[in-house]
Amino acid sequence: MLKSLFFGDRTVKQVLLGKTGIQVSELSFGSLILGRLQADLTEEEAAPAVAKAVELGINFFDTAQSYGTQKHLRLGLGRAVNDVVIATKTHARTREDAQKAFEESLKEFGRDYIDIYHCHLIESSDDLANRREVLDFLMELKEKGLIRATGASVHKVEAANVVAAEPDFDILFPVLNSQGLGIPDGSAEEMLQACQLAKTNGKGIYAMKPLAGGHLRGSPKEAFKYLQAPGLVDSICVGMKSPAEVEMNVSVFEGREVPQEVLAQVETVPRTLRIYNRCIGCGSCVEVCDQGALSLDYSQADEKRGKEAQSVVDVSRCILCGYCAEVCPQFVIRVV
Ligand code: SF4
Ligand code: SF4
Repeated sequence: MLKSLFFGDRTVKQVLLGKTGIQVSELSFGSLILGRLQADLTEEEAAPAVAKAVELGINFFDTAQSYGTQKHLRLGLGRAVNDVVIATKTHARTREDAQKAFEESLKEFGRDYIDIYHCHLIESSDDLANRREVLDFLMELKEKGLIRATGASVHKVEAANVVAAEPDFDILFPVLNSQGLGIPDGSAEEMLQACQLAKTNGKGIYAMKPLAGGHLRGSPKEAFKYLQAPGLVDSICVGMKSPAEVEMNVSVFEGREVPQEVLAQVETVPRTLRIYNRCIGCGSCVEVCDQGALSLDYSQADEKRGKEAQSVVDVSRCILCGYCAEVCPQFVIRVV
């Protein structure tokens, strides 16, 4: 078990991530929530949650170039930065862009290698074919010891099966929760079947959106159990933005009661997606949302203001991934 002077007495159980030889805590820290797409914390505001995670024995931290949270993690990790496992991702479509993303990650973490590098959000076999030069580049990095494992994040079952069958990927990072929320083309059971294929092919698996973007936040114990029961998922990645949220999730993982004083500090207002009325109805957000949660309401058009429509969200389908906020030219979408 990984142990160093940076980790406190409480240590979340660790497991091997597939056949990568990488040992990770069963609870991993998702950093999307910290950055500009969600809570929009400064690096200084985010650091205490990251430091708390290290203190309580979480050694696995997930980020992505597009989240803008590599620096947040770096600051919070402090001297533990070389003792933890870092996974990051790039949307790069070319080798040149992948190279830039990789160099940026090294710089932002102040490390000379990255543990896991993902192709961010593979959609299909065609998409993978289009990004083959990026995967080839990642394989070269692995050969040189500059990364330890390759991986891909996915929302779709179709894509999970593609990644599961691709020998050059070591790790699958799918959306998975008991309700199947956030899986646009299938059910939780179908995603589990893809995970089974990945497992059979020796891949490590860690799951995102275990609480379905907040829809299951009332029953985290059951939500985590659902993912652990089939024995396919090595680690569960939960977005956490405060020390209290870290303490709460670690307590649930350890099978302890969450202390009342911790519960009192956890924000109880559910997060939601807000789209302000400076929206001009360009439709970019609707195109990027693979959950079908956004649509354009043309009845709110306002010719004088150059507004063609208003984007509206169906909160029952939204998993708060924040990807729509990333593409909005008006910067009017926020997860609050
Ligand atoms: S509406 Fe935006 S935040 Fe919600 S699922 Fe779609 S892309 Fe993600
Ligand atoms: S991307 Fe922004 S401006 Fe365009 S429709 Fe969506 S919310 Fe409106």
